Amino acid sequence: MEKRRSASQPEAVWKEKDLVSGREEDAMVAIFRTSGCSWAKKGGCTMCGYSSASLSEVTSEDLMIQIDAVMERYEGEKFVKLYTSGSFLDDGEIPPEVRERIFREFSGCSRILFESRPEYVTRETLSRVPKTVTLALGLESSDPEVLSKSVRKGFTPDDSRRAGECAKELGLSVRTYLLLKPPFMIESEAIEDALRSIAFADAFSDEISINPVNVQRGTYLEHLWRRGGYRSPWIWSLVDVIARAAPITKARIMSSPSGGGTQRGVHNCGVCDRKVLDTIHKFSITQDLGCMDAHCECEERWRRYLESERVLGTAADIDRGIRDELMLVGR
Ligand code: SF4
Ligand SMILES: [Zn+2]
Repeated sequence: MEKRRSASQPEAVWKEKDLVSGREEDAMVAIFRTSGCSWAKKGGCTMCGYSSASLSEVTSEDLMIQIDAVMERYEGEKFVKLYTSGSFLDDGEIPPEVRERIFREFSGCSRILFESRPEYVTRETLSRVPKTVTLALGLESSDPEVLSKSVRKGFTPDDSRRAGECAKELGLSVRTYLLLKPPFMIESEAIEDALRSIAFADAFSDEISINPVNVQRGTYLEHLWRRGGYRSPWIWSLVDVIARAAPITKARIMSSPSGGGTQRGVHNCGVCDRKVLDTIHKFSITQDLGCMDAHCECEERWRRYLESERVLGTAADIDRGIRDELMLVGR
């Protein structure tokens, strides 16, 4: 049964661990329900299902009640991450008086993270946020073609760079999110795209978080995936990206995949998924590549998959195509 959404209730609040000054600390994550991402209202990104978390009628008063609900759950965590399924700096989503109250409530925190599209990041908007802020930017890819055609992001990599540099000039931290394997890309291209994007983001980021694509409900990507036109990336591809990028990157590299180990999310053979994801989690905390020491027989299958895709030149789900063919033959 679909959860009833209320304008005066946050979409979700939960606790997890994250880094503060390089140490793992308790963190609280709050997702405010807002009137929605301005870009989603114009069609949005191909893989984004966040619009299901918004309600057009959310008012400033509703948001104040949502803050009350969030504060009831707050237990003094040093790190709070505040998401809106859009842009925290967009006055249309979070009016200035609401932002001010949020900053007052969390003035004792060591670290406050929020995300914004670059068009809302200006010297003026950032001059009104505390110095404990980490600005999160959804760069996704440093390739303008990938960003416009595959992700349909509605801004360019240079827009993100400008926003990141602006935050750094004002003494704030920057966490950049990258996508691993946007639609229409074969797996080996996606790995190279992520590596180039990490090199691009390194110049203005303190942290780079790699998000392997997770197929969300109601998105264009889900439509493609249901038809066998997309396979979420292998966990081995994520391991490969981290192992090759970490030695040459200044920023901390991290990944905390949503939907990991499921068909919609980053996955391997099903037997080793949890084990390999655990090693990625350990690496994200320690930055020690020695942590990523898991192996499985399916590594060889992954290599063959990369090769087959290159030969066939298709980003369709090859394993699924073969399974479907075998089922037809067996009928
Ligand atoms: S991914 Fe971000 S920018 Fe794109 S539609 Fe979703 S919320 Fe908006
Ligand atoms: Zn395996």
